[in-house]
Amino acid sequence: MAILVTGGAGYIGSAMVERLLASGRSVVVLDNLSRGHREAVPASVPLEVGDVCDPAFVSRVFDTHPVDAVFHFAAESLVGESMTDPGKYFRNNVGGVLTLLETMASHTARRFVLSSTAATYGDPEEVPIQETFPTQPTNPYGESKLICERLLHWFGRIHGIRWTSLRYFNAAGATPTVGEDHSPETHLIPLALDAAFGRRDPLRVFGLDYPTPDGTCVRDYIHIEDLADAHLLALEYQERSEWGIFNLGNGQGFSVLEVIESVQRVSGRRVPWEPAERRAGDPPRLVASSERARKELGWNPKRDSLDEIIASALRWRDAHPNGYGD
Ligand code: UDP
Repeated sequence: MAILVTGGAGYIGSAMVERLLASGRSVVVLDNLSRGHREAVPASVPLEVGDVCDPAFVSRVFDTHPVDAVFHFAAESLVGESMTDPGKYFRNNVGGVLTLLETMASHTARRFVLSSTAATYGDPEEVPIQETFPTQPTNPYGESKLICERLLHWFGRIHGIRWTSLRYFNAAGATPTVGEDHSPETHLIPLALDAAFGRRDPLRVFGLDYPTPDGTCVRDYIHIEDLADAHLLALEYQERSEWGIFNLGNGQGFSVLEVIESVQRVSGRRVPWEPAERRAGDPPRLVASSERARKELGWNPKRDSLDEIIASALRWRDAHPNGYGD
């Protein structure tokens, strides 16, 4: 039997594929290569190129491969973009999950792990955020993932699909072979690294007037290999439980300015930056309580120092100055 990794040519998805192969599993990747990279998928892994919202295509993939579980990474994930093009988020994120679930219902696969997000919580009154906190997204990205979780709830009840929603905080870092290569790049750590090496304009810090200690937004950065580990544990958890929702973060918050300081420490170079307007949809502070994941999944994030996470991103960037080169 095989695990279908949608978005397996993308940043977190390809780290997942690497982890699955290392654990001896059979993997199939579904990706439309809109942002993923063909080079990120090992030659030994079947790559089905197409749209996760296309029922005929997805059905063909399930007819061709003996899929018994789905790890779903193929989605839109930019807070800022979701505030200008909400339709894209609802269409692709909700449509993708719905297409997969309907296809699963008519085939034999009964396991689903969703890449969800801390953006489902919105602007929480306190941190660290527990899974029991209210979900009041401040942007369509978070709302679209929340709707996906509700779809899982109903397909779980009606079709017996076991599901886990993993609410990621800020995915970061790299493995020796898998790293971050988005075009355009919008994420803080790769932009700060490129600014430090003069490969880009100075970093724009979005908002210095947030109600946080230094006025910039606070996020919880979690290494992509730790995220991949949690998915394998989620599959084991599905043996004993029908569904579950888990935060995945380190439980430590870092402001944008603290990330800049860490990049400077690790790279030995100054990060040029300038103040900019707030980015629409950004909550001031998102920091996870991952107690539930630690206790119930047995998850234990191993790469929990920000400097170490950034150092891994820097190593990958040094080894791949043009990203995947396409
Ligand atoms: N950020 C910034 N300048 C940038 C990119 C990001 O100040 O060029 C800030 C952003 O406003 C947020 C944090 O860095 O507070 C992390 O943003 P990112 O886009 O990396 O991840 P997100 O939190 O949106 O998932």
